[in-house]
Amino acid sequence: MSIVVESLTKVYGAQKALDEISFSAEPGVLGFLGPNGAGKSTTMKILTGFIPQTSGKASVCGFDVQSQPIEVKRRLGYLPESNALYPDMYVKESLGFIAGIHQMKSPQKRIAEVIEQTGLGPEQHKKVGQLSKGYKQRVGLAQAILHNPDVLILDEPTSGLDPNQLIGIRQLILDLGKTKTVVLSTHIMQEVEAVCSRVIIINKGHIVANDSLEGLRGKNKGKSLEKIFIGLTNL
Ligand code: ADP
Repeated sequence: MSIVVESLTKVYGAQKALDEISFSAEPGVLGFLGPNGAGKSTTMKILTGFIPQTSGKASVCGFDVQSQPIEVKRRLGYLPESNALYPDMYVKESLGFIAGIHQMKSPQKRIAEVIEQTGLGPEQHKKVGQLSKGYKQRVGLAQAILHNPDVLILDEPTSGLDPNQLIGIRQLILDLGKTKTVVLSTHIMQEVEAVCSRVIIINKGHIVANDSLEGLRGKNKGKSLEKIFIGLTNL
């Protein structure tokens, strides 16, 4: 299993954001859904080593997120919801900078490959700050996949993109999911149907569904994914 989460709990002050959640994930695209405030970002931040859990365990490719953070970071790419980019760097320069952080030796070939894969080619000579939102998001994705991680954590990667940009990024996520474990948080049910093989729905810090898309539909005959989501989270 690429990701294993066991009884993970996170308490912020008086607020329990995650209450003993457990799940695992393997290659494919896992939709990580839930209303705002459900605990999605908190889970993602713990998996990426961004914040510590209060209790419970999480591992990525067999490495513990708390005790083996470097091993985890080598195998994991993260696109946070508010993606901090380097606006004054040129696209290639920013990817070169990230390659340096990963201590990649002669990264030029890989940078060219990732620019091609994320469709950044036409904009690669611009500064990141000059790019449209869709292209900035591609830079974020390019940075996340540059070191060819086995696991990708994407927090609302398509929010704010226009329909054309959406199609491109979704296709990329679908392609990445053929070999990698992708955890994708999104509010767009159409997107879930287009790219996800499995779905976890989280509500108020609890997992309320963990199933394949077909499994979820089978148990809720005739209902759209949107209706299933509302039924499980509007309690
Ligand atoms: P989601 O990503 O599903 O919208 P979050 O994981 O961001 O949810 O938040 C889960 C809950 O934890 C929310 O009630 C949120 O207000 C709370 N929370 C998140 N981050 C913090 C923080 N740094 N301090 C206090 N409460 C937080």
